[in-house]
Amino acid sequence: MDHITSALDLVRKQPPERPVALVRRRPVTTAAHWFQQNFKGDVFYAVKANPSPWVLETLWAAGVRSFDVASLNEVELVRSTLPTARLAFMHPVKSRVSIAQAYFDFGVRTFSLDTHEELRKILDATGGARDLNLIVRLATSGEGSNLPLTNKFGVQAHDAPSLLMAARQATQDLMGVSFHVGSQCMRPTAYAAAMAAASRALVRAGVFADVVDVGGGFPSVYPGMVPPALSEYMDVINRAFDEMKVHEETQLWAEPGRALVAESTSVLTKVELRKGDALYLNDGSYGNLFDATHAKWPFPVRLHRQDEAETDTLKPFRFYGPTCDSIDSMPGPFWLPDDVNEGDYVEIGMLGAYGVTMGTRFNGYGETDTVFLDDAPMASLFGLGPRSVNYPRPFDAVEENKVVRLNRPKGGKRGKKRVKAKA
Ligand SMILES: *Cc1c(COP(=O)(O)O)cnc(C)c1O
Repeated sequence: MDHITSALDLVRKQPPERPVALVRRRPVTTAAHWFQQNFKGDVFYAVKANPSPWVLETLWAAGVRSFDVASLNEVELVRSTLPTARLAFMHPVKSRVSIAQAYFDFGVRTFSLDTHEELRKILDATGGARDLNLIVRLATSGEGSNLPLTNKFGVQAHDAPSLLMAARQATQDLMGVSFHVGSQCMRPTAYAAAMAAASRALVRAGVFADVVDVGGGFPSVYPGMVPPALSEYMDVINRAFDEMKVHEETQLWAEPGRALVAESTSVLTKVELRKGDALYLNDGSYGNLFDATHAKWPFPVRLHRQDEAETDTLKPFRFYGPTCDSIDSMPGPFWLPDDVNEGDYVEIGMLGAYGVTMGTRFNGYGETDTVFLDDAPMASLFGLGPRSVNYPRPFDAVEENKVVRLNRPKGGKRGKKRVKAKA
């Protein structure tokens, strides 16, 4: 195979029939270095964001030694790829078999929990082990997050003290608190609020935490979602940690997923048909574009075609995926040259987190090839590309029109307010 240097190079030399994940190691390395230099604690990579072996290996090479896993399969995957990695099993609900195998066969010592029942289960399944690190997951408000994770996990404030006390008594090793402010968290202060709540719960329980795990949620950059600088998140967390009632040796942990891998991967898709402003692609919500459908995220796009001719006039398009399910549609808007047509290729950016990992084989589609590139990501919070995604007009204007049109109740006042709150 020729050495491929860019999406366009691939389209010209070997126009692909199937979707291709264009993966770049450099953004992962750079993000990993950034977090290790700027986060004043231990960085656990949340494996579910992208479990590809090349990601795990690249992170390891960049110095990341700790991994947040959520299933026995993830435990096995990381162990087989990185035999000496430190694993933390941070799913608050685990099967007894998973706990036992993680503990006895894979050396996992760190487990999270959010109920007394799960604590009992962990102690039973490990034969009453005393060398556990028990991390109590606290509920958060989810404010400021684009994908809140508030309802499913986390012990509520009024039940937290008794669970913290029970966890403290159950181990001679580390007892800690964790939370998840919600993925793609746009407000650094969400971390401070969660840390202050954790501190209050610990004070009420009358116990000290050995670990304060601020979880994931660190953002990447997408059209309409340009977050504050990541250094602001670090400043807020450092200040909040100083204000917590913890002891001198209390460790600070974080579990970034998205922020470490989002920039790394784009997906090259082929236009199979154009119908007006709708493009039918060979990839969709059952493939690598889950969030384009289910969170209606308008990922950044670029057109590639074999000949030079290209118009400058951009127009908003929506996409359909290849399966027969009508859910398999993506509203965008995706801005592309107005003469885009069958046989053209669309590169969709920022799919390294929760993009390429989400694929299914539904309807016989979903197989994706992988090509390694070393060009710049479409956008970067780490200085590897533009800090915001190029968009023909301010994205918020587009989004605002859409929200107003869809959500404004009769009379319109409340609808306007909602738009403001969003922007
Ligand atoms: C998903 C998840 C993460 C990673 O979240 P990001 O928003 O991708 O940073 C971290 N910790 C836990 C417990 C998770 O479930």
